[in-house]
Amino acid sequence: MKKTIRDYELEGKKVIIRVDFNVPIKNGEIQDDNRIKQSLETINYALEHNAKIILLSHLGRVKEEKDKENNTLEPVALRLSELLDKEIIFVTETRGKLLEDEINNMKNKDIILVENTRFEDLNGKLESGNDEELGKYWASLGDIFINDAFGTSHRAHASNVGIAKNLPNGIGFLVEKELNIMGKAIENPKRPFTVILGGSKVSDKIGVIENLVKIADNILIGGGMAFTFLKSQGINIGKSLLDEENIEFCKKMLKQYKDKIILPIDVATSTNLEIPENKKECPINEIKENDIGLDIGNETIKLFKTILEKSNTIIWNGPVGKFEIKEYSNGTKELCEIIKEKENTIIGGGDTASAVINLGYKDAFTHISTGGGASLEMLEGKVLPGIDIIEEI
Ligand code: AMP
Repeated sequence: MKKTIRDYELEGKKVIIRVDFNVPIKNGEIQDDNRIKQSLETINYALEHNAKIILLSHLGRVKEEKDKENNTLEPVALRLSELLDKEIIFVTETRGKLLEDEINNMKNKDIILVENTRFEDLNGKLESGNDEELGKYWASLGDIFINDAFGTSHRAHASNVGIAKNLPNGIGFLVEKELNIMGKAIENPKRPFTVILGGSKVSDKIGVIENLVKIADNILIGGGMAFTFLKSQGINIGKSLLDEENIEFCKKMLKQYKDKIILPIDVATSTNLEIPENKKECPINEIKENDIGLDIGNETIKLFKTILEKSNTIIWNGPVGKFEIKEYSNGTKELCEIIKEKENTIIGGGDTASAVINLGYKDAFTHISTGGGASLEMLEGKVLPGIDIIEEI
């Protein structure tokens, strides 16, 4: 078991917390502050225990000097200050005298937010490349390191792995929740365990399919990726998405796991993406040359429902239709309706999370992961370096 923030005496200690404040910002306005809110539990805990809190986060990508302007964490400092109803000391440098002086002057319960760690990428990708000296330098500013940024835990950066190597460390409440819920669901699922996979490409999900097909009882496939599976069975898919290179992979999976992998039996199609009203539904073997499959059909929803209703763990990664277009969001929405009644329901981060949240199901599931890439890698059964580096109890 990993050490957590609870395993340390925090009183008077300088606690560096790696948070995920990588929020969408347009013209200085935060579009969605969910990630900031998700970090509050750990920050509040450190406050209650009289720590001196130093927050580090990346924001966007910083490749050139001019990227700094759009990727400053200053708006985040303001929002965090509103949410905590407390002053946040925002330090505009990622290293040097200004930062060190501010830290030396800290009193218990003070909070410093350091400028975007990726500003260090301008000096030769020091942050993203996990530069050893940078990790050591940041570690030298604190006494304890807490990783609470699940969304970057699949990457070894100076601000997570680099610091953790050089300080006593643990995970925060958000990372703990991700590990407890998603990690446990994969390791020891309450059965039947059903996985819903969708999204655009098979190639992005190969690792997930290979790992979960061995663990799950059912894999329901929808979205653009379903068409490569259907094509591998000789079905005409018209102009639907095809991942040519992975037809053989799909064929092999279906042969080996024919009782577990369940494909759509009907689809909603259009002949023109520009005219979504052209929508029609047909059985899977009646797709015409000019049809583009954009959602699962009603018969498929019924079929998936019978399986989902019996399931005791459900993990969902990838929308089952082109949900951004209202006419093709029905399958994704109906699956939300079915599984919101169930327990142990876990939604992968990234596109799946935005799909269910946009459709109005933000609070309908046991857990919506905060990490797109990180949750995908966890479902692939990979070790996440940002978590692997954390000490065991
Ligand atoms: P992913 O990031 O692989 O989970 O893919 C998510 C994207 O897949 C979303 O933008 C959906 O619009 C898209 N998608 C889902 N189903 C389809 C489909 N049938 N045809 C084209 N795109 C789809």
